Amino acid sequence: MATRKTGLTCSMCGAHDSSSTPVVKVLEGLNLCTDCISFIDNARDSQLKAAGRKGAKQEGLKEIPKPMEIKAFLDEYIIGQDEAKKYLSVAVYNHYKRITQAETKDDVDIEKSNIVMVGPTGTGKTLLAKTIARLLDVPFTIVDATVLTEAGYVGEDIESLLTRLLQVCDYDVEKAQRGIVFIDEIDKIARKSDNPSITRDVSGEGVQQGLLKLLEGSVVLVPPNGGRKHPEQKMIPVDTKNILFICGGAFDGIERKIASRLNTHVVGYGHNEADRKRQRENLMRYVMPQDLKSFGLIPEIIGRLPVLTSLEPLDKAALRRILTEPKNAIIRQYKKMFLLDGVELEFADSALDLIVDKAVEYKLGARGLRSIVETIMVDAMYEVPSQPVKKFTVDAAYVAEKLEKAHFEKTKIAD
Ligand code: ADP
Repeated sequence: MATRKTGLTCSMCGAHDSSSTPVVKVLEGLNLCTDCISFIDNARDSQLKAAGRKGAKQEGLKEIPKPMEIKAFLDEYIIGQDEAKKYLSVAVYNHYKRITQAETKDDVDIEKSNIVMVGPTGTGKTLLAKTIARLLDVPFTIVDATVLTEAGYVGEDIESLLTRLLQVCDYDVEKAQRGIVFIDEIDKIARKSDNPSITRDVSGEGVQQGLLKLLEGSVVLVPPNGGRKHPEQKMIPVDTKNILFICGGAFDGIERKIASRLNTHVVGYGHNEADRKRQRENLMRYVMPQDLKSFGLIPEIIGRLPVLTSLEPLDKAALRRILTEPKNAIIRQYKKMFLLDGVELEFADSALDLIVDKAVEYKLGARGLRSIVETIMVDAMYEVPSQPVKKFTVDAAYVAEKLEKAHFEKTKIAD
């Protein structure tokens, strides 16, 4: 039994890493040999069995809320996007219903309902996925599809996107197998043309092919520490059958594909630029699977993402609401922070309006609201705790002064 060069010893039984009993680093300071891993797995399985089949099935899941309850929860955190919320609520509800019903013996096999959300950047796609995961209390991770492209088209590395999921639940494979993976920027792995015969854009297509395996549900070998696979590494088998994949992407320019499918001439023929922009934005809600294909996703991937929904661009009114209404709205967070110092923080309506105007003017969208507020508030946060004040009011003049002082106009993105 040759000792291998890693020199690791099992933290449980003390076995040295060898080709017959490989030892892997599970966590920082915790190494386990394959025998101990199976021992732990078996012990947990029998515990779960003892807890009853239902318990085992639902481990890691609270009781599944009904679609309307899911939507109501999303409403507390996300402004607008009603269509997307509805689609997501139904898809997630069905997904977890499917998992918990998996034992029923009939011929009806409910298929997995992975989701794809199409919409401009910064409109709440990630926030929706994150909020759902929080509601369900299941492991959740965000991965960026562009990283997969960079890893090359070896394919195997794609499994490493499940590494993060394993890590967030401390390598509890059972739990990870019921988790949610949000794949961001799925549009970036589109091939450049939907005509396979003329494209040599293998990297995008290679990644898509690799992703397919995960999306459709199969047992894949995941490198415990991510990165590339190498022969020394003990892989962790993960069954993706019950992992819900939610994909998001801006799909820049997909409106043109939608317009040509609808045979409409609206794009580019409006009376003015604002009109044309509105028409383009409105088209997004008619997105269909064939538009994703025209954009460059392979039909097999589209087939594995049966729930397709779109998000709307956020207008001024929506941005204004985002500042104050969500449960953890930025303004609420600042108020709480000041209150901890015994100071009541007030924002005049005119101040909030100006913040929104600046976010629109500088094309920063919802994501920029926070950085604007941070810029405005830094002086007050520095000074107020040392001052004998009980109330601090931010008005439009204060906002303008602080933005000017910080040369905020330099952040303006060129047209
Ligand atoms: P996307 O994934 O669509 O690019 P995100 O979900 O990451 O965008 O949004 C970025 C940030 O902007 C969020 O963290 C949140 O603070 C804010 N935001 C975006 N859209 C909304 C929305 N509809 N309601 C509330 N906040 C939003």
